[in-house]
Amino acid sequence: MIDETHDAKLTSWVESAQGHADFPIQNLPLGIFSREGAEPRPGTAIGNQILDLRGIAHLLPPRSGTAIAGPTLNGLLGLPADERRALRQRLSTLLSDTRHAAALGPYMHPAAECIMHLPARVGDYTDFYVGIHHATNIGKLLRPTPLLPNYKWIPIGYHGRASSIRVSGVPVVRPVGQQRLPDTVEPLVAPTDRLDLELELGVWVGGGNALGSPIPISDAHTHIAGLTLLNDWSARDVQAWEYQPLGPFLAKNFHTTISPWIVTAEALEPFRVPQAPRPDGDPRPLPYLWDANDQARGAFAIELEVAMTSAAMRDQGMEPLRLSLSDARAMYWTAAQMVAHHTVNGCNLMAGDLLGTGTISTACPSGLGSLMEITAGGMEPITLPTGEQRTFLLDGDEILISGTARAEGFAPIGFGSCRATIVSHA
Ligand code: CA
Repeated sequence: MIDETHDAKLTSWVESAQGHADFPIQNLPLGIFSREGAEPRPGTAIGNQILDLRGIAHLLPPRSGTAIAGPTLNGLLGLPADERRALRQRLSTLLSDTRHAAALGPYMHPAAECIMHLPARVGDYTDFYVGIHHATNIGKLLRPTPLLPNYKWIPIGYHGRASSIRVSGVPVVRPVGQQRLPDTVEPLVAPTDRLDLELELGVWVGGGNALGSPIPISDAHTHIAGLTLLNDWSARDVQAWEYQPLGPFLAKNFHTTISPWIVTAEALEPFRVPQAPRPDGDPRPLPYLWDANDQARGAFAIELEVAMTSAAMRDQGMEPLRLSLSDARAMYWTAAQMVAHHTVNGCNLMAGDLLGTGTISTACPSGLGSLMEITAGGMEPITLPTGEQRTFLLDGDEILISGTARAEGFAPIGFGSCRATIVSHA
């Protein structure tokens, strides 16, 4: 539902919000922040400021005002979608109408002086594999038939590790793992030499479902509270040795970086687009995965970018090097299909669960979401502006992921920062 909160002409009395690349008044993302000496609490980003929602709880719709009392957004995520819509409308009014500026002033804080935290206590984290170009590219490196027969029938996924999810900015310690080098018989245990990134979106689960009660595909969109950027760090040498027969394990659960703001499903309404038609010959999804409304509006027009710097680049004041410009429209399955599939067996999702989409690569060489693809499995190094070469990540490298939702006639909105630097394990 598109309403007055999405109006491109709407402005805020917070000056920095006008034309802000990520957080104009049309966005109003939700997160958890703290200032020095104060406990973490819910906030919304507006321009280069953060509004303390706890401080203005008495001005918010009653159920939202109660739900934001704690140090996480789980309570708010668990509210019905119409409650989140009411909160958004209220925040939009408070931040656009100058008459509220004096009352809100004491609760506005420069974002640069705030620390961001995980927006929710993530009970469970599942990572899917819906980027079909990524799945095809990786498959080509592994076997003659890139896509396995189940790919076009099932949104493939595995259960990840919630405890190692961190917000943007927390350094990633190079993991140690068991690997078997080429042309050897016995494995060894060592720091990974093939540390990779994976460009993904994270889907925040809103209201969950009772154990044994699947979420129908027609309702699945109401269980999606918002999106976030996600980097599924991966140790390819560890992965290659351990992944059969049960799938990824220690190669991926050492650290996952997310952007700290939940860009709500309501904010993303103008950026919903039809799911790309399946190529001729692909099977029609089974009925529990097929909904006409989801096919018409279940994809998102979100540009995704990956960039990097090395320590030497930063020392020389160089701008980050873009590695990829990808697009969320390259997903073979929609977020709603992920939710419907996850619960078809009765598995219960909970408010604050996180679903990764899997690596999102486009069909273009300039839109690849992992170094595994960009360097053809480590065979074709990239050259940095310093002349340094990379196949996989070295200590000191920083990966920056950004995302922007765009639609004709609407103000673009962004996701904020999803970045982290690799540090030595020792
Ligand atoms: Ca992944």
